[in-house]
Amino acid sequence: VKFVLVSGGVISGIGKGLTASSLGVLLKSCGWRVTAIKIDPYLNRDAGTMSPFEHGEVFVLDDGGEADLDLGNYERFLDVTLSSDNNITTGKIYSHVMERERMGSYLGKTVQVVPHITDAIQEWIMRVATTPDAEGKVPEICVIELGGTVGDIESMPFVEALRQLRYNVGDVNFCSVFVSLVPVLGVVGEQKTKPTQHGVKSISSMGLSPQLIVCRSEQPLHADTRRKLAMFCQVAPDAVASVHDVSNTYRIPMMLQEQGVCNLLIRSLHLVWRLPTRLEK
Ligand code: ADP
Repeated sequence: VKFVLVSGGVISGIGKGLTASSLGVLLKSCGWRVTAIKIDPYLNRDAGTMSPFEHGEVFVLDDGGEADLDLGNYERFLDVTLSSDNNITTGKIYSHVMERERMGSYLGKTVQVVPHITDAIQEWIMRVATTPDAEGKVPEICVIELGGTVGDIESMPFVEALRQLRYNVGDVNFCSVFVSLVPVLGVVGEQKTKPTQHGVKSISSMGLSPQLIVCRSEQPLHADTRRKLAMFCQVAPDAVASVHDVSNTYRIPMMLQEQGVCNLLIRSLHLVWRLPTRLEK
């Protein structure tokens, strides 16, 4: 199984969830079996006890699991049925590790964030990513969305676990996608690239340098903004994609495909082209 990690910087709520779902749609339309995992770095076990004013509506999964709305996006976009295991939270991971500690499974060792929490995260991801779907087939690609913004204290164990996962599965099986904000300031209407440059620098320093940068902006990215971002963030010019504001978010997969994102994913994950099915506008 190969992995596509979607993380984000600058601010939350810039469209990581939609980007993750859309990348899944593109891969699925190219013929791959895709599953998805959402990581929420909070201490609640699930979203069931969280106020909708704070976290938006709760999405209830088939097995009764209460999760973030992003899981609903994945189910709709990817036409899959997910379980509560597809939503990893800090609460779930810590409970799991502490139960094992009480059972003596760590054989007297000092239980620590590294390696015990990070190992538990990796085991959980591998288990979910290799669970057969409703047709009994194992997914070929797992899209992982890391909630929050990179650099938060809360997400550190997950970032480290994902770095180790990348190391263990190898670069050809892991594509890191960074979602960022490109704001426009002043009367000149210049698209500012600095926040994205800093975000990429920060995630790269944690060993997850992105192969694809997705920029949320009001208007489509200008050609020179794209060139500048590519140059300063160490990616090819076609690895900078623009996800500007749209009235209907179901158009985002098409928008990414038109910018050649499908080819880029295929290239970076060393996939072999399959006959694409037509995406409906
Ligand atoms: P995150 O996962 O980063 O918190 P989401 O994917 O949940 O972000 O998106 C946050 C909000 O922004 C959602 O209400 C979504 O509909 C909206 N949104 C995301 N991308 C776009 C876009 N390109 N155009 C318009 N609205 C968008």
